[in-house]
Amino acid sequence: MKIIVFLGAPGAGKGTAAARLAARTSAVHVSTGAMLRDALKRGTPAGLAAKSYMESGGLVPDETLVDMIRELLTEAPKDAVFLFDGFPRNEKQAAALDMLAGEFGATVGPAVCLEVPEDVIMARLGGRRVCPSCGAGFHVESMPPKKEGICDVCGAELTVRADDRPETIRHRLEVYEKQTAPLLSWYEKAGSLRRVDASGDADAVADAIMGFLAGK
Ligand code: AMP
Repeated sequence: MKIIVFLGAPGAGKGTAAARLAARTSAVHVSTGAMLRDALKRGTPAGLAAKSYMESGGLVPDETLVDMIRELLTEAPKDAVFLFDGFPRNEKQAAALDMLAGEFGATVGPAVCLEVPEDVIMARLGGRRVCPSCGAGFHVESMPPKKEGICDVCGAELTVRADDRPETIRHRLEVYEKQTAPLLSWYEKAGSLRRVDASGDADAVADAIMGFLAGK
């Protein structure tokens, strides 16, 4: 089992890059944010407990995330390759991931850091639209749906994520700087950090990542 970790600020394009890679390979995209949003939609106890943290842009308690990842790895085939988008988000979660990897015979890395200037991040998050029904992601300018406001995949009406409002975006960026950015040195020390310029379009970013995953 292999776990490739995607790092980067909210809006850096982790979800888009992981989804493109998953579409081109047999790797599986794992978005903990999407898993939590789905749990909330289904009204599970974990989803309901996560609601207030998610709406404020803060981090959901580590135990909830570690339990979710443990369950995922328990059910996964031995040869699975995962693209982790949104986990780990702090050093405690990174340590838990190393421990779980040991338990399940998985390797962790590379850790792919998507680097994007802050003004690009603000523009990306402000224009982001999501499908509340199937989870597909769009952007009003860079990735518009074929019909305005309507999901290409399932036809549902697109929405703005509750945590993509300007005041929440600011808080999410602060949480990232304080809690998640230290993971860059964590993975740098482990020798597995790969930095990618992610300010270009989604296909160029996916090409760059594919290139170094293939050892080019
Ligand atoms: P995302 O879709 O990755 O931007 O995640 C949306 C929200 O889900 C975050 O702002 C957090 O509230 C929560 N979340 C997702 N992943 C994690 C994680 N690894 N640890 C804590 N909270 C998380």
